[in-house]
Amino acid sequence: MTQRPYPLPPLAALTSPSLTWDDAAPHSDAFDDVYFSRENGRAETEHVFINANRLPTRFAEWRQRRAFVIGETGFGTGLNMLCAWACFDTHAPAHARLHLLSTEKFPLDRASLIRALSAWPSLATYAQVLCDQWPEAVSGIHRLHLSERVTLDLHFGDTTERLSQLDGQVDAWFLDGFAPSKNPEMWQPELFEAMAARSRPGATFATFTCAGIVKRGLKAAGFGWQKVPGFGRKREMLAGMIDVPPSDTRRGATPWFTPPAGLDNRHVAVIGAGIAGASVAAALARRGIKVSVVEREAPGAGGSGNRQGALYVKLAAETNHQSRFYLAGLMYSQRWLGQLATDTPVWQPSGVVQLALSDKEARRQQRFMAYHALPEAVVSAHTEGLSELSGVPISARQALFYPQAGWVHPKALCEQLLAHPLIRVIQGEVTQLQRDGQHWQLDLANGDTVSADQVVIANAQLANHFAQTAQLPLQQVRGQVSEVTLPENVPAPQRVVCAGGYVSPPVDGVLTFGASFVPNNATRHVTHDDHQRNIDELREALPDWVAALEDAGVELSPESLEGRAAVRAASPDKSPYAGPVPVAEAWQAAYQALGKDASKVPDTQGEHYPGLWISTAHGSRGLASAPLCAEVIASRISDDPQPLELPLVDHLHPGRRLISAIIRGTTT
Ligand code: SAM
Repeated sequence: MTQRPYPLPPLAALTSPSLTWDDAAPHSDAFDDVYFSRENGRAETEHVFINANRLPTRFAEWRQRRAFVIGETGFGTGLNMLCAWACFDTHAPAHARLHLLSTEKFPLDRASLIRALSAWPSLATYAQVLCDQWPEAVSGIHRLHLSERVTLDLHFGDTTERLSQLDGQVDAWFLDGFAPSKNPEMWQPELFEAMAARSRPGATFATFTCAGIVKRGLKAAGFGWQKVPGFGRKREMLAGMIDVPPSDTRRGATPWFTPPAGLDNRHVAVIGAGIAGASVAAALARRGIKVSVVEREAPGAGGSGNRQGALYVKLAAETNHQSRFYLAGLMYSQRWLGQLATDTPVWQPSGVVQLALSDKEARRQQRFMAYHALPEAVVSAHTEGLSELSGVPISARQALFYPQAGWVHPKALCEQLLAHPLIRVIQGEVTQLQRDGQHWQLDLANGDTVSADQVVIANAQLANHFAQTAQLPLQQVRGQVSEVTLPENVPAPQRVVCAGGYVSPPVDGVLTFGASFVPNNATRHVTHDDHQRNIDELREALPDWVAALEDAGVELSPESLEGRAAVRAASPDKSPYAGPVPVAEAWQAAYQALGKDASKVPDTQGEHYPGLWISTAHGSRGLASAPLCAEVIASRISDDPQPLELPLVDHLHPGRRLISAIIRGTTT
């Protein structure tokens, strides 16, 4: 039988639980069970989950460069995870990192979370960080950076399904969830099998229950367990370990996507200091890795160099892998940008209005809204009040509104990301890459060399100019923005407004709009043709406002506009490349037979250049894609769990076009 690539479950609509409160302690109406005990919930957590997993000792003895990973079933109020974080802060050495991941099918709303956690004043500072970043109830993985060394991945959705999608391994499990008698659907053999399959050798677990179904399920999945004294009036609970977890078979149908083995990662070189490179550098530095960024011009000089860059996405009506990635990227970028401490206006969450200029686009937006059922705080559809919402007269009859999206000052963002003590920026142009023994050597045009354990190529359209990446299909797309100074007292957009192109709220009286989109063109001089295209698009999107501007004496002609042109990189399928660089010839040899019969998948893993990675093809949506791609790469280099479901990680793999070309018998 032909094996199919590992499936991604559909987006699920999540509902917040109905709760009854005993002061600050929530009780679930649906499950008729408590989240924690009001009197001694924290002590119970310490006993059942923290101590039975021996976390104080294991944290104190942690010497590895990778993060210690805790997995939990049922995040609830987060009490267990906050206690684990506090325990880590008390016991772990300074270099150590903690990665928490937890599933939740019925996420509390923020107000309930705040109320529940108010029961624990000693955890108030931890709770505040969690509540500030609490994501919207959208199924999928939400990565939160809780501190410089503690990360939390919230896997919203059903536990068993979420663990089956997890690309990562766990050191210690908190097997929580309402009691098996109250929540029998969760405590099924598949849950224990999924936990076993995502465990590291020697992973431990602890759970409050001693139910027979749990004992049998854990044993059948390969966990050894013993009864240990329970908390308070509960006589017994279970704790145990798995010595030899089963191997991961999920990439059986796509062995080329199997991640390469880990390597020394003390020093990583990043080529390019735009959003892609700077966000990779920051993600690596956060993990304690020394980074040398080599940039031929200056941070944010290329496609990331405009006065303003919009954080926006255009999602498919009925969704697909690409669209799921961009939705995850949008939500991650919003949170990540919101966390940047800044004095300069690096990030303005002004909101983004996406106009439907035609009936066809209006119908597409309606299909999108019906299919996705996303919370209003992510996106909502509007047919009225569009002018008030945008700050300028709008004649379109419908729009989508992303209230937490907005715009950044890309250059300032890049500079801020690179201002980290572990990052140094070297000005130079890398001409070639050579692997010499355990290291990469980067040859610079000025004759200098840089040596590093691993390399991330993040220089946009130039990313396939190296011998190792020459097979990577990349399209160059020229984009020019136009700028005009507005007189005082004319109305101006309060949000980013997009249709074909986009227009942002003015900065210092200067309005930026565009950008043109000219495929297969790598020129960087400003042209009248592109200005004219931008003017035409602006006039089509906002005709009444453009007329008002002209009445106020603003001249909108190619001759009167300032502007800037840059080149962006795009892949043929318009998804970014983020991952390890395949050895094209080795793939062609290993998978040649697929050209004759695509169902005969060889049992051979894809060969990759050791320690060579790429983040490119972010097109004009780099603010939504590059930061999450940076996490994909930095997580892999550091052996941390991935921030995306396994099929989405594979969707971004730089070898995807190569393998489809081999199967089709064409060149990339
Ligand atoms: N660990 C939590 C804490 O520290 O606050 C308490 C967990 S509470 C007792 C159980 C949690 O499991 C609830 O939040 C519930 O919504 C969640 N849950 C129940 N069934 C689930 C399932 N099938 N998948 C994911 N989460 C589930």
